Amino acid sequence: MKSYKEMTREELLAEKESLDRAFEEVKAKNLSLDMSRGKPSTEQLELSHKMMDVLYSQSYFNDETGNDCRNYGTLTGIPEAKRLMGAMSEVGPDDMIIFGNSSLNIMFDTISRSMTHGVMGSTPWCKLDKVKFLCPVPGYDRHFRITEFFGIEMINVPMSPTGPDMDMVEEYVNNDPAVKGIWCVPKYSNPQGYTYSEETVKRFAALKPAAPDFRIFWDNAYSIHHLYEDPKKQDYLLEILSECRKAGNPDIVYKFISTSKVTFPGAGIAALASSKNNLEEIKKYMTVQTIGHNKMNQLMHVRFFGNLPNMLEHMKRHAAILRPKFELVEEKLSAELGGLGIAEWTKPNGGYFVSFESMPGCAKAIVAKAAEAGVKLTGAGATYPYGKDPKDSNIRIAPSYPEIEELSAALDVFTLAVKLVSVEACLAGSDD
Ligand code: PMP
Repeated sequence: MKSYKEMTREELLAEKESLDRAFEEVKAKNLSLDMSRGKPSTEQLELSHKMMDVLYSQSYFNDETGNDCRNYGTLTGIPEAKRLMGAMSEVGPDDMIIFGNSSLNIMFDTISRSMTHGVMGSTPWCKLDKVKFLCPVPGYDRHFRITEFFGIEMINVPMSPTGPDMDMVEEYVNNDPAVKGIWCVPKYSNPQGYTYSEETVKRFAALKPAAPDFRIFWDNAYSIHHLYEDPKKQDYLLEILSECRKAGNPDIVYKFISTSKVTFPGAGIAALASSKNNLEEIKKYMTVQTIGHNKMNQLMHVRFFGNLPNMLEHMKRHAAILRPKFELVEEKLSAELGGLGIAEWTKPNGGYFVSFESMPGCAKAIVAKAAEAGVKLTGAGATYPYGKDPKDSNIRIAPSYPEIEELSAALDVFTLAVKLVSVEACLAGSDD
């Protein structure tokens, strides 16, 4: 098929007429489908059901050092959980603290603490006139909502397949002392599924921040979330903590992980890896905040997995469920939109999302059009700070939750909505 931009006005009008008819037929089906959030499907959750059999009334509830996990104590996590989460995060057990059920919660607390008490003796951020954060875009909406909540000014940094625009990152971080942090999802990024290149990671580690309390918020949420078993189709990310150490910048990064998309979202375990200095500071606050996190859950996770290789086997079972869904997205988008010159999208090797770029000014209208036909998508703009996508072109596709038949129906509606909104935009731009 000809690209929309090559079509004459008459051809565009004919295309619109046939799309309008197809859209009315879809609307009449009264669909109710959801492609909005990156949640594991029910089938994926069932993969971890046997973890519920690991602890029962007759279980031995002590950790490997003999400490009773039913009781208070062991503030920073049981040793075997540190080993397992450390292995998942490619750091040693002493480089991390195990927290509660959510890495996002650790990120929120870390920023909250920096606001009220400062970072390692620096002025609390709340006492400064201006605090800025760099936000690679498109990015994860919940990151942006944390910094917005604390009144931190957010600066968009464009993403590319190798990571954020590092010239811009260096320019800001190395010269502006008000820049205190950057949000990063370095592997299988949300929403593009991009993985930062080795050069990008090394440039991060070698930053020379103007602010001594600048920190990289390295959210490695998708560290082991490959879609393919073939190593050639798995992305590789250089380990940032050791790179920072080598570059003489050991304290510059906080690295977050969780098992939310390994076992149960909201009921997994989360951890933070960082330098000795950072961990010591965090421990001081932790003694005030809690007497200890949920060690029974830590015990359940470590006894279920035993070690990282078993966890990686488990991730292959997730991938077997997710892969056909991602392949269906690629297949449908290529078949319906390929060659029309109205959209581009990513083809990730892992993670939970596909990032879709429509013609400028069309994303909101596409999301609204899909909703009119019963398909819920992530709100347009959500992938940008303040919910403002300057080009109104990015849409995050989240294929994990719906069953494959539902996903297929949702994608049909989505591609129809894209074509309809795009043909209207082309007609509006064409001469009468
Ligand atoms: N970070 C990213 C990049 C995510 O996509 C998600 C979940 N969608 C989270 C963090 C949330 O993690 P948790 O459940 O550990 O809070």
